[in-house]
Amino acid sequence: MQLISRSMNFKEIIKEVYRNVDQLEDKGQLASFIPELANVDSEKFGVHISTIDQINFGLGNCYDKFSIQSIAKVLSLCLAYSIIGEDIWKRLGVEPSGTGFNSLVQLEADQGIPRNPFINSGAIVISDILISSLTNPKEEFLAFVRSISNNSEINYSDKISASEKSIGYRNAALCNFIKSYGNIKNNPSDVLDFYYDLCSLEMNCKELSELFLFLANNGCKILDNTSILSKSQSKRINALMQTCGFYDESGEFAFKVGLPGKSGVGGGIIAIHPNKYTIAVWSPKLNEKGNSYKGMTFLEEFTTKSQLSIF
Ligand code: GLN
Repeated sequence: MQLISRSMNFKEIIKEVYRNVDQLEDKGQLASFIPELANVDSEKFGVHISTIDQINFGLGNCYDKFSIQSIAKVLSLCLAYSIIGEDIWKRLGVEPSGTGFNSLVQLEADQGIPRNPFINSGAIVISDILISSLTNPKEEFLAFVRSISNNSEINYSDKISASEKSIGYRNAALCNFIKSYGNIKNNPSDVLDFYYDLCSLEMNCKELSELFLFLANNGCKILDNTSILSKSQSKRINALMQTCGFYDESGEFAFKVGLPGKSGVGGGIIAIHPNKYTIAVWSPKLNEKGNSYKGMTFLEEFTTKSQLSIF
């Protein structure tokens, strides 16, 4: 296997693309629907790459923590998948939704089975599965996330989860609607509290890229090669990130960037090149689909210049 750090000077490409994108006018908007996220400094811009052969390189605000929001949906899916295996797909689908992340519209036609785990409805069902499977979901989920990259600095933000809960009418609607079809087993308010907690996880770009390396490494931790997911499960998570990671902009991300990835309304994006690297980008202003404007632009230019996409 040819590893990128030996084969090319990707650091120079990152520097050049960072400079270019940093100078662009940012056409995005902050995710002000969560009041706390409206207070974030919109000028922040960080990027960090981690390779399978353990080269790390970051630029800009890559050591500033931010709210990873929906990126956490990948981690909760991984934990639930590792616990209940293929039965998980009885509770939700694996198809792109073609709708926004908080859309209600398909749920009635699909009888309360969310299209995929990366839209809010799907992640709410995953939260329900974890509440049923774990004794202390909040503590055990955090312990799971910390253990992947041996990083005890990762934590929830109580401020962000409280802020999101204060305006969570739409998520409450989704959760109650799914419950009416029997696909939520626990009390909706417990499910939503846990969902807000997991969305409130904070990390910086370095922590995020290091954490996700297991999905570039066939589901095994990079530090000691212990398995978090089987090879097949890891492949499937990457496939879902490729097809569903950016809501109704997933096709566009595949087309322009060509990597499995996941975004969050905090302005973060993680992208994965299986067997090679992970790259995390953070710029808080979002495009109209809820994905980081500069983050998307950076990754498009990076994979174009480096030719390091999977296609
Ligand atoms: N917590 C956010 C919400 O439920 C997550 C959305 C996102 O990051 N796309 O609205």
